[in-house]
Amino acid sequence: MDFDLPDETRALQRMCRDFADREIRPYAAEWSETEHVPTGTYKKMGELGLMGMLVEERYGGGDAGFVAYVAAMEEIGRADQSLASGWNAHSTIASLPLATFGTEEQTQRWRAPGAAATHRGAVGLPEPTAGSDARGIRTRAVRADGGWLINGTKMFITTAGTDMSLGVTLLAVTDDGADGADGGNGGGGAGGKRFGTFFVPDGTAGYEKGRRLRKLGWHACDTRELVFTDCWIPDDHLIGDDGNGLKQFMQVLDPGRISVAALALSLASAALEMAVRHSTEREQFGRRIGDFQAVGHKLADMATEVEAARALVYRAAWLADSGRPYAQAAAMAKLYASEVANRCARDSVQIHGGYGYIRESEISRFYADAKILEIGEGTNEVQRNVIARTLTTGPGARG
Ligand SMILES: Cc1cc2nc3c(=O)[nH]c(=O)nc-3n(C[C@H](O)[C@H](O)[C@H](O)COP(=O)(O)OP(=O)(O)OC[C@H]3O[C@@H](n4cnc5c(N)ncnc54)[C@H](O)[C@@H]3O)c2cc1C
Repeated sequence: MDFDLPDETRALQRMCRDFADREIRPYAAEWSETEHVPTGTYKKMGELGLMGMLVEERYGGGDAGFVAYVAAMEEIGRADQSLASGWNAHSTIASLPLATFGTEEQTQRWRAPGAAATHRGAVGLPEPTAGSDARGIRTRAVRADGGWLINGTKMFITTAGTDMSLGVTLLAVTDDGADGADGGNGGGGAGGKRFGTFFVPDGTAGYEKGRRLRKLGWHACDTRELVFTDCWIPDDHLIGDDGNGLKQFMQVLDPGRISVAALALSLASAALEMAVRHSTEREQFGRRIGDFQAVGHKLADMATEVEAARALVYRAAWLADSGRPYAQAAAMAKLYASEVANRCARDSVQIHGGYGYIRESEISRFYADAKILEIGEGTNEVQRNVIARTLTTGPGARG
């Protein structure tokens, strides 16, 4: 086994670290306080090839693979989780339905601008009454005038409302099934229900962006409700096949989980680094606080868990790059890394004492940013369901 990253990936990591030190870290606190979405910084990331890292070269991307993406995310996410969260959504869930199921024409039209960083995508699955239970969504797409008429509301959609936004890829019900039952919120048991994936460009009549949601963390990331009222789109805005929409959406969640796991890993390692720094600088009772065993043991536990999370995240990325099944590995990486991120953020605040609780401290921002990692891209309860399912009905522990 080779635990060393390839030379070109290490060079990429150094480039991202320099960029983060120069262009992100000095401004992150201000972006957070003012809830400013730094689209100019995303454009600079585009100039470095970071916005199209997972996009094939023929669409203007770098096709660098998941291991390289995780290595880059470790550096960007350590500087600012808000900015990194927008990059995460752009790189994976917002663009992979098009990449995997879109036609050549659709991909050129809506994915290539993302790789060039002139625009960014967004993806919309959850609704006010259905989140984990994707089958319970109520947004409808019905055939009309040679296209589709969409009605419904999407909730918690990231990066749809910025001045770089291109449109949103969404999931809608296209047929309620023979019995007309709608599955509701209670587990989606409606037989024969059909789903489609659609791209709705910005500016389409009937597509309205709701208010921007104010959040516990990720303040510099745009998240909002989207409302579709008799919103007509042409037939060529259907992505993939009518009837396969839900399956398509589920499939692109796996790479998204690797990305969120990498985001969590970056938060955990940043929290550890801040804790180590404070432990060696702060003195009480005439000694550095890191010399107290209670503090040293916290640092030791954090460091051990960060390394364990790193191993899981890179293994999932390596499986994906090797073309092997990785659904279970991605769920494990997301589950574990997000819980480690929360434990590390909490313990780092504790080590910072009162200074960790004031808004000016960097660790307080990371603490607030940590919670969403256990919720987004499928909650951790859902990750446990996915892992359990692969153990009891799937390919087994190594699948
Ligand atoms: C800031 C933010 C940004 C987001 N960005 C996007 C985005 O860009 N695109 C997008 O599509 N989505 C996005 N989401 C949505 C996110 O993925 C959902 O919030 C998440 O999947 C959970 O859905 P929910 O909030 O409706 O919770 P619910 O599904 O209502 O769950 C509530 C609780 O019940 C538990 N639960 C539900 N079902 C089960 C079950 N079967 N077994 C065990 N426990 C269960 C959950 O784990 C959770 O603890 C975002 C969310 C947030 C908060």
